[in-house]
Amino acid sequence: MQIFNAKTALKDYLRSVKTKKSSIGFVPTMGALHEGHQSLIAQSTQENDITVVSIFVNPTQFNNPEDLEKYPRTLDDDIKKIADINPNGIVFAPTVDDMYEGKTISQSFDFDGLENKMEGKFRPGHFDGVGTIVKLLFEIVEPTKAYFGEKDFQQVQIVKKMVAKNHLPLTIVVCPILRETSGLAMSSRNERLPLQKRKDASLIYKILKEAKEKFKNNSAQKTTQWVKNEFDKNKEFTLEYFEIADEDTLSTCNKKIKNKKYRAFIAVFIDNVRLIDTISLN
Ligand code: AMP
Repeated sequence: MQIFNAKTALKDYLRSVKTKKSSIGFVPTMGALHEGHQSLIAQSTQENDITVVSIFVNPTQFNNPEDLEKYPRTLDDDIKKIADINPNGIVFAPTVDDMYEGKTISQSFDFDGLENKMEGKFRPGHFDGVGTIVKLLFEIVEPTKAYFGEKDFQQVQIVKKMVAKNHLPLTIVVCPILRETSGLAMSSRNERLPLQKRKDASLIYKILKEAKEKFKNNSAQKTTQWVKNEFDKNKEFTLEYFEIADEDTLSTCNKKIKNKKYRAFIAVFIDNVRLIDTISLN
C-alpha cells in the first residue's frame, strides 16, 4: 500500500512503476468509504494492474458551507478498508492547497446543458466543481479506466461529456448502486442520520420502486405528482426535486417516447441531511 499526499509525488511514482502495457484503474472518492465505494475499488482491482483511489473532500463542489464542514472525514479507516481489498493499492489523499495551489476556485464548463438540471439547478456551481477536480485528477493519475457509481447518474453523464469533449484517452466504467438492507442507497451522508431517521429514509427507495411501477401505465406528470403527494404526507421529509428524465440528455420527460430510456431522479432532505437516489424506469 502506497499513500501519497502530494500530486507531484504521485505522478513521479506512477511514472516509475507503469509500463506501456500496464492499465491504471482510478476510483475518485471523498472518503468515509462504505460498501458502495468498496465495490468500485474491488472492480478496479480486478480489471487493472494498478488501482489508485483518491480521497479528497473537494471544497469547490459544495454550494453549502455547512455540508462541507459536516462532511465525514475518516482517513485512517478508509486506508484500512482499501488495504483489505487491495494491499497493493495506491491512495491519493492530497490537501486542498496541494490540489488548488492556493486558488480554491472552479473552472467554468459547458456540458451542453447537462449541468443545468436537477443537481446543477439546486446546487449552483456543483458541476463546475466536479468538472474541475475530476479533470485535475485525471491529469495527475492518467487512468486507463475510471470508476463511478450510478447513484450519481448526472455526475456520470457530466464526466462522460467532459471525457468526450476533451478527447481524453480513458474509459468511464459505471458501477451499480449498493444499498443498505433497508433499500436506502449507501452514502457517506447516511452516517449523519440518527438510527431511526436512517430507517425511515428507506422510504425514498420504496417510493422510487413504486414510481417505477406507476410509470408503466401513467404519464411522467402523473407519476411525479404521486411522488410529491407521498412526500407531502410524510412531514419528516422535504422533497427538493423528483424528475423523470431522458437518460442521455437528462431533459424532463414531458411525453413518453418509445425506445427512449427514462430514469427517475430524487433529492430529499431528512433531518437536514440531503440524500439523492435514482432508478432506471425501463
Ligand atoms: P463520493 O465519495 O460520494 O464522491 O463517491 C465516490 C464514488 O462512489 C462516486 O462515483 C459515487 O457515485 C460512488 N458511490 C457512492 N455511493 C455509492 C453506492 N451506494 N453504490 C455504488 N457507488 C456509490
